[in-house]
Amino acid sequence: MKLFSWYFKTNLLIRILSGLILGAVCGIAFGPAMVWVTPFGDIFIRMLKMIVMPVIIFTLTVGAASVHPAQLGRVGAKALGIYMITTAFAVSFGLICGNLFKPGQGMQIAASATKGIKGDIATPSLVDTLINIVPVNPFGAVAEGNVLPVIFFFLLFGIGLAYIRNSEDEKISQSGEAVFRFFNGGAEIMYLVVNWILQYAPIGVFALIADVFGKQGAEAFGPLGFTTLAVYVGFIGHMVLVYGGMLLFFGINPILFFSKAKEAIITAFVTRSSGGTLPVSIGIAENKMGISQGVHSFSLPLGATINMDGTAIYQGVCAIFVGFAIGTPLDFSQQVTIIATSLLASIGTAGVPGAGAIMLLMVLSSVGLTVEPGSPVVLAYAMIFGIDALLDMGRTACNVTGDLAVTCIVAKTEGEMDMSAWYEDESAILPDPAIEDCS
Ligand code: ASP
Repeated sequence: MKLFSWYFKTNLLIRILSGLILGAVCGIAFGPAMVWVTPFGDIFIRMLKMIVMPVIIFTLTVGAASVHPAQLGRVGAKALGIYMITTAFAVSFGLICGNLFKPGQGMQIAASATKGIKGDIATPSLVDTLINIVPVNPFGAVAEGNVLPVIFFFLLFGIGLAYIRNSEDEKISQSGEAVFRFFNGGAEIMYLVVNWILQYAPIGVFALIADVFGKQGAEAFGPLGFTTLAVYVGFIGHMVLVYGGMLLFFGINPILFFSKAKEAIITAFVTRSSGGTLPVSIGIAENKMGISQGVHSFSLPLGATINMDGTAIYQGVCAIFVGFAIGTPLDFSQQVTIIATSLLASIGTAGVPGAGAIMLLMVLSSVGLTVEPGSPVVLAYAMIFGIDALLDMGRTACNVTGDLAVTCIVAKTEGEMDMSAWYEDESAILPDPAIEDCS
């Protein structure tokens, strides 16, 4: 019982960090023997995934319906524009890091070395990804967990609700108000449930990290050390220079920003899913950053789906790695092509673990590095794929930081940010008396 009350009384971040460190230590110490913890990590991921759709449906509807349609158009265009700009920076950053560190140089993977490796992985079509944004059946999209079509539909629904609420016909506006209140109540409930799920986070984090380190061991840092280093220098450089610089430019203290965003960054790091981290990001935007629902409920789900700066950096570095590894380094024009395709590929990357590695296939094939059976590209690709979990952790953390940073900038410039929230005590994302009671 004492342990139980200690658990709930200790600061959430300290608990999550303890889970992280303990997980890494146990994973390295016990190796694959730690496999028994896998279900505990799976439960955490499942709980986050469970809450994603309801959170998007309620908060996006309420958010879109709270804003005047004219203003919503501006917020949307602004968020989209800034997302694109930061991603273009990110790909360039990735290429710069790749050229600086030259991962894979001197490896000379020969075609003969790849005999017997089968690489018949289908390259996803970008046009299909874009067309699929419009759902044939919105409820089917909800059931299948396709975030982008769900955003598309509930955004329309919310905008429609905004018109109905503001209707001059009193009867219509009253029914609009009733629907709005229902969704608003649902959104509040979702915030509460997210907070409950977060109480489990430290255990889930421990299990996920122990699993990764148990399977890959510390040696994962060995042969691909330079790729890992280049990618992480890119992530951290982008987070500090691009996001930090932009926040500073718009009058937001970057240090305060990172201190407020830390739970989301850590959740992203361990879950490797922008979509899964969305409930945490929304909680932070709402309760710690004072961002209005009208902005965050639209900007964050959109960012979690299309804004993948970490993924873009990773794709730039890995394309360079593959070029070096097979002994034909990418030339300048190929690198320019990589900028364009990585930008598009990162938009089409789903916010789930490992998605960026699949989209990397599209990026590679755009410069003639096709992953075909027997080609040296397969082996180089397989090598990076082997350490994908490590790379995915950093890129997802970078992706989520970008979503929050851009959302802050949009909110600040639209006058939709309550700055007093930035200087308040922030012991919890959501203060929840129910949790205190059970300790
Ligand atoms: N795991 C990443 C995310 O959810 C996507 C990726 O694999 O690059 O943001």
